[in-house]
Amino acid sequence: MRRKVRVDFDELNVGESVAYILATEFGLKPNIVKAQVNDDSSGLMIFIVDGEEELLDKAMGRLKSMGFEVRDLEKHITRDKARCWSCGACVSICPSKSFTYDPETWEVHLDIDTCIACGSCVTSCSVKALKLNI
Ligand code: SF4
Ligand code: SF4
Repeated sequence: MRRKVRVDFDELNVGESVAYILATEFGLKPNIVKAQVNDDSSGLMIFIVDGEEELLDKAMGRLKSMGFEVRDLEKHITRDKARCWSCGACVSICPSKSFTYDPETWEVHLDIDTCIACGSCVTSCSVKALKLNI
């Protein structure tokens, strides 16, 4: 199976190679789709990981035991299209540019694959059309 996960780290475990652990200890196939390191050595990585479900669960447990914050990103952000009036407030606030504005239709589109589940858009939406499910 395939799983999309977000792994947050801090200055205590910034040097650990998550991809190496996933591959060598659990035989998984991790693919890093985004990595970000902040000035204080904290940061995050987004992985697409392929492997057996049981091994994926064990691997996530192993990372958590090492102090990483691990979140499953499947269906993490949802939008109620009936509420959304394409005001555009979420477009400029999203750090991953997951929202795009279509000038022809005047609609805002959401690309869930690039979302890193930061939650910024949820508070920016005045009509509460966005929900973070983690
Ligand atoms: S902020 Fe809310 S209403 Fe505005 S475009 Fe985004 S989801 Fe739609
Ligand atoms: S949760 Fe963050 S990354 Fe995901 S769509 Fe909202 S602002 Fe963008």
